[in-house]
Amino acid sequence: MLDEGLQRCPCCEARIDLSDQQAEIGTLLECPVCKAELVVSNDEPLELDPVFSISNQWSVNGNQLLSTDH
Ligand SMILES: [Zn+2]
Repeated sequence: MLDEGLQRCPCCEARIDLSDQQAEIGTLLECPVCKAELVVSNDEPLELDPVFSISNQWSVNGNQLLSTDH
């Protein structure tokens, strides 16, 4: 069964436990293994994407990403 809080880094496949932090769409985090900047791109189900792959649709605002798609 899939553990909702456990995600894999899209860059290095490392396991990242999101269950103890607020994982909302736009939340930025760093992979503890490869140090890739990741962003929560979906919350149901939880999905992580490398920041660079979506940076043309989103803009960084502090530690949050805002969608520029409008
Ligand atoms: Zn990684």
